[in-house]
Amino acid sequence: MNILERYHAMEYGPAPEARNEADAWLASRDFAKALFIDGAWKAAASGKTFETSEPSSGKLLAKISDAGAADIEAAVTAAAKALPKWSASSGYARAKVLYAIGRAMQRHQRLFAVLESIDNGKPIRESRDIDVPLAIRHFIHHAGWAQTLEKDFPDHKPVGVVGQVIPWNFPLLMLAWKIAPALAAGCTVLLKPAEFTPLTAILFAEICERAGVPKGVVNIVQGGPEAGAAIVNHPGVQKIAFTGSSEVGKIIRKATAGSGKKLSLELGGKSAFVVFEDADLDSAVEGLVDGIWFNQGQVCCAGSRLLVQEGIAEAFIAKVKVRMSRLRVGSPLDKNTDIGPLVDSTQLDRVRGLIAEGAKQGAVCWQPDATLPSSGYYHLPTLATSVSPANILAQEEVFGPVLATMSFRNTEEAIELANNTRYGLAASVWSENVNLALHVAPQLKAGVVWINGTNMFDAACGFGGYRESGFGREGGREGMFEYLAAKLPVGPAIKPAAVGSAQPVEQADGTSIDRTAKLFIGGKQVRPDGNYSLAVAGAKGKLAGEVGLGNRKDIRDAVSAARACKAWPEATAYNRSQVLYYLAENLSGRADEFAARLVQLTGVAAKAAREEVEQSIERLFLYAGLADKFEGRVHQPPARVVTLALHEPVGVVGIVAPDNQPLLNFVSLVAPALAMGNTVVAVPSEWHPLLATDLYQVIEYSDLPAGAINIVTGRSAELCGVLAKHDDVDGLWVFADADTCAKAEADSVGNLKRVWTGNGRTLDWASGEAAGDAFLRRAIEVKNVWVPYGD
Ligand code: NAD
Repeated sequence: MNILERYHAMEYGPAPEARNEADAWLASRDFAKALFIDGAWKAAASGKTFETSEPSSGKLLAKISDAGAADIEAAVTAAAKALPKWSASSGYARAKVLYAIGRAMQRHQRLFAVLESIDNGKPIRESRDIDVPLAIRHFIHHAGWAQTLEKDFPDHKPVGVVGQVIPWNFPLLMLAWKIAPALAAGCTVLLKPAEFTPLTAILFAEICERAGVPKGVVNIVQGGPEAGAAIVNHPGVQKIAFTGSSEVGKIIRKATAGSGKKLSLELGGKSAFVVFEDADLDSAVEGLVDGIWFNQGQVCCAGSRLLVQEGIAEAFIAKVKVRMSRLRVGSPLDKNTDIGPLVDSTQLDRVRGLIAEGAKQGAVCWQPDATLPSSGYYHLPTLATSVSPANILAQEEVFGPVLATMSFRNTEEAIELANNTRYGLAASVWSENVNLALHVAPQLKAGVVWINGTNMFDAACGFGGYRESGFGREGGREGMFEYLAAKLPVGPAIKPAAVGSAQPVEQADGTSIDRTAKLFIGGKQVRPDGNYSLAVAGAKGKLAGEVGLGNRKDIRDAVSAARACKAWPEATAYNRSQVLYYLAENLSGRADEFAARLVQLTGVAAKAAREEVEQSIERLFLYAGLADKFEGRVHQPPARVVTLALHEPVGVVGIVAPDNQPLLNFVSLVAPALAMGNTVVAVPSEWHPLLATDLYQVIEYSDLPAGAINIVTGRSAELCGVLAKHDDVDGLWVFADADTCAKAEADSVGNLKRVWTGNGRTLDWASGEAAGDAFLRRAIEVKNVWVPYGD
């Protein structure tokens, strides 16, 4: 036997991580008092417990107190009591607490890692080298944000008491992603881990006790969906941060509709792993192993769809199979293990069921020849080929070690296939041609894109999705905004319009030629589909004109026109800026006419009308100026990589405008959306729509491409409902009565569009706070593109 043969013949010896400290910790704790509320350990008021077991053996680990409504109530009360002092404490004081948490976690790093692997089943190499160090980094990074809060986030305040519900796949890391920014922002929290993985959160609460976290600032409750729902529905909670399945995310979206609670959802994914023919194939195979088999594939951003260019597909798949055969499936505490058990038998059943269904639908499923441990919830890594784009394995999140493979011919097809999913969490692009990779990355509908890499995370870089992968970001500057409320100049409550009633109008006494304003769709003035019109009264109750009564079909046409308009989102920021300046210029040329219209319709004095027109022009100027300045950032995480945090338009944005200051509010809402490259379907003020219809000519003369802005007049509540339910609308901003706002949120669950409402109130649009970054932030998605460098 030569050396090479000897090398290949070598067997791995067992390399178990010691678990005695973790076992001692488990034996020492009273888990029947596992609720950490107001700085004390409590049993559930009901006395109930639930069991958590070890995925590698199925053995019972502990019986944990199961929180009910009374316990959630106690936790909310404690968090609310602690809020005033914590939020008023200095940034430095909060920074010291966050830093102390990070340092204390560092001191118990090994115990956290072993406990996490025991409870979740993830290989110790992962918990030791990824989960725990990243969690610590999160607390230390956010100590800095706590200290610079006032400088970096002016005009913002802590959102209040935060309810946080997390999944089982990264129990400690998800906890850190949630608690660190909340504390930095000055919020107090109650967090519920998943019922499968309660342990490291309990150890974390012990750390809080020792790190000087004031009582009630961090409360950790335990339990399942019922406890989660009790948090979500509690009126004393001002913000819900949820990570978990899209299914539960949608339930929470509905449950919080109309409550005024701020919401962030980090949900599932079906991320594409795209390999071009000029990629370094061996690196791509290693990346793929990490992309799909990290944490047994139980990763929201797992690269579960391999898209490989046709010419290299066969060779690449062959390499993948060889590599899969070498993956070691076994005890999570063995340092040589690549793949541990799934978290629970229910998860194992789900994965098996999806593979069986995928095979029934034509996929060919291959597994390496390996024996699984005799007990525990193990599953072999699985490669599915001959997968059609409609196959369940290509569409559904399996959340297990299953890779679905498809091939593509050219770049366009790769992008199309990658985007052929209702999710939009992450993507990985492999090519040695950085021009190609950076050409593809912006076209992928995903919140995170890794170039020649995968599963890179850092506390300084935002993480989160598009579409049904949820909304909001965790980490970095954008993550901090999730725990802050912008100080907006809130105006009076908006009264609901009487259903079905036309405005009470008397005939006008003028003799001018009768003119009915149409709708503005795809750059043209078009008649409403229903051929009905709506009478519009002037301030004195006399008929001022008529506008088209838009309906469902008109909104659909407007959305199609907005979607079809590629010229605007693809225009350079400078180009968009010029067009907005031009709009301002053209409005200014007709300032007298618009001022007169305002007087006629709203009854304001001539001077106030003139001011509103001037402010509208000024606002257009502002957003023209900001169009090429509200830019992304470059992060330098602790690795040889730069992360480009790009600002991208949300997409098609629906806008439902209120009645007060009708010209100014329309401009204040539409201009920031346009400035960031969105295309818009706007429903102007129901009472004063003529201000918007008078803008048609201004728009027509301003070089705005057809479809960039579409205006549908009519009944606001009805049209808002159509926009909310429309799955091709990506964002919706609603300033209408409370009921319409609540319905817009509830009806948005279909595609989880980003909804921003005034919660039934309007704004004082003349205020300087009704303009600027707070609006632009609503008009963008932050996409983090990771670009490694070095040879
Ligand atoms: P899950 O949605 O079943 O449960 C998540 C959490 O929600 C648990 O704590 C659970 O007890 C709680 N819960 C369940 N029903 C609830 C309800 N009706 N109201 C309130 N809370 C409720 O998800 P899971 O199976 O624990 O986790 C897997 C999912 O998490 C996957 O879809 C994965 O993609 C997603 N995930 C997403 C991210 C991300 O950042 N996008 C990160 C990790 C995991």
